[in-house]
Amino acid sequence: MRHNERIWAGFRQIEIQMIGAQSLGELVDTLVNRIPELFLAVDCVSLVCVDPEYELSRLMAAYPKSQIGRYFIPVDREWLDTLVSVTGRPRLGPCDAQLQARMFSSCGVRLNSCAIAPLTLHGALIGCLNQGSRDAGHFSADSATDLLEHLAAVTAMCIDNVVNHERLKRDGLTDALTGVANRRFFERRLHEELVLRRRRCNSIALLLADLDHFKDLNDRYGHQVGDDALRQVARALSEGLRASDVLVRYGGEEFALLLPDTDPEKALEIAQRLRAQVAGLVLDGMGGEVAAVTVSIGVACLWPEGGLASKTDDDAGTWLLRQADDALYRAKAAGRNQVVAAERPRAGKQIPDSRKH
Ligand code: GH3
Ligand code: MG
Ligand code: MG
Repeated sequence: MRHNERIWAGFRQIEIQMIGAQSLGELVDTLVNRIPELFLAVDCVSLVCVDPEYELSRLMAAYPKSQIGRYFIPVDREWLDTLVSVTGRPRLGPCDAQLQARMFSSCGVRLNSCAIAPLTLHGALIGCLNQGSRDAGHFSADSATDLLEHLAAVTAMCIDNVVNHERLKRDGLTDALTGVANRRFFERRLHEELVLRRRRCNSIALLLADLDHFKDLNDRYGHQVGDDALRQVARALSEGLRASDVLVRYGGEEFALLLPDTDPEKALEIAQRLRAQVAGLVLDGMGGEVAAVTVSIGVACLWPEGGLASKTDDDAGTWLLRQADDALYRAKAAGRNQVVAAERPRAGKQIPDSRKH
């Protein structure tokens, strides 16, 4: 049990680092270096990914530590299908020369056992995470694979996240200061989410978070510290979000969060958690002084039982933004560092058509 706990703790450390990775290169770097550091019997790690458009290869080529790229192996789907089990279960056992040449071509030592863990995303095989050991008995077919399967699931999700993030950067849809998506991206996603919501009859929540008295912080400590505070707040707001949630820097010191499939109660709970996360931040660079930063959050929701029938999705978007903004205004007026929910519309009420105003 103690052995398992140690493995689990190691995996947790790797996971946390992977979730924070800002690029595919950083993600591969984490896997390739951290796994052998934490698990001494592992001598080599590599990541194989289906990459038909060479998109991932280009991202790897942009990573400054070029030697990391050797442990990333782009392949085509047929190649992968012949080597990785269709059951989706990791394959543990001996590593012959042929397998080493395919999966660990950059590894300088002769490997004698290995674990090949398939990576799947939305039911499709996207690659495999490979670990090799000189010790012939280290990876054996009778070992339990649940922890490895968990690591593979997290790895697949992190690859998806980091590639999406890199695409946003490439397309000018991220904010240079904080690294989160920008308002242009928000407008696009809001529209897409509203169309989806209508089709599936799901709820959607919007949170607008504005830093409190941020001008004072800038005036007191300078713009640099202000910028750093914005970065830290962006990071705090992104913690614990689901992959489908969208965090954007909406304006100067204002962030928007779009939470699909979230009802009003859950949205309030999330807003409270985020407000507390920001209030708990300890800002650096204040010369020993402890400065606090807080946010006020306005919460608005569209949900099927709300009785709202919109004319168009764009009107619903305008309505949602206005509701969240009104709630934010009330949170400020009520003393800041708090969450206020928009008033719920009565059943049967229509969203006003914004084009009439
Ligand atoms: P309130 O609680 O009412 O929101 O007060 P506030 O001071 O936060 O609001 P106000 O709108 O008066 O000021 C916003 C400040 O945000 C002013 C501006 O200097 C600062 N700000 C906006 N964008 C940036 C940025 O990119 N970097 C820094 N350092 N400050 C910024
Ligand atoms: Mg403000
Ligand atoms: Mg503001």
